[in-house]
Amino acid sequence: MKRWGGIVAAVVLAIGGWSAVVAEDGETDTAASIESLTSLQTAPEALEAVAVPKTPQPQWYQDQVAAEQAAAAAAAQAAAPRATGGGRTIGYTVSTKGVTSSNLAEFAAQANQTLNDSRGWAQLGFNFQQVDSGGSFNLILSQASQVPSFSSGCSVQWSCRVGTSVIINDDRWRYGTTAWNNAGGGIRDYRHMVINHEVGHWLGHGHATCGSPGSYAPVMLQQSIDLQGCKFNPWPLSSEMWSGR
Ligand SMILES: [Zn+2]
Repeated sequence: MKRWGGIVAAVVLAIGGWSAVVAEDGETDTAASIESLTSLQTAPEALEAVAVPKTPQPQWYQDQVAAEQAAAAAAAQAAAPRATGGGRTIGYTVSTKGVTSSNLAEFAAQANQTLNDSRGWAQLGFNFQQVDSGGSFNLILSQASQVPSFSSGCSVQWSCRVGTSVIINDDRWRYGTTAWNNAGGGIRDYRHMVINHEVGHWLGHGHATCGSPGSYAPVMLQQSIDLQGCKFNPWPLSSEMWSGR
């Protein structure tokens, strides 16, 4: 009681000044009032010490931050001046790794069609040309089991890009993938997609996600694995039409 009286007195004191000091229990206790006043004055520091618990940020908050960062990065990329090939020729070699079953001449011809198609990276002003040696990148049709020989990050299941090696999985080239086929995609479009996707990596692109279900997938979405509710799309979206080369 004495303590609460002191606190009340201190509050009154703080509000009304010394003349208004009357303790709750009827006695005037200047010493107790001053002591309580002191503790009130230090209270904010004490509150500060206990009011900022170091708890992990909730998942929804982390997701929100990640989404905002992704949006900001996309906006910055959209605003950045886009590299244009200006008709620049990009030479690339075509070769095989291991034992492949696909028709190599058809592979080379279709890859070249894709690369120079007006719906693809050629929009940037690049002219892709197959060369015998000394290309800027190497387009490699690889036996599925040999794909990981390029990097431990590559899988026997998928195609891959490692440095200047753009590696197309022979099984995927022949059969597409379950996700793609189930979504009604044809094999020629799958081949467009996989060439655009892996060469997209070489141009400097990372992976993208499905922006909104029902819309066309970015070509840099891993459409071979999961369309994430997007519609399959073999070609780069206009928002992806940039190059780091
Ligand atoms: Zn990829």
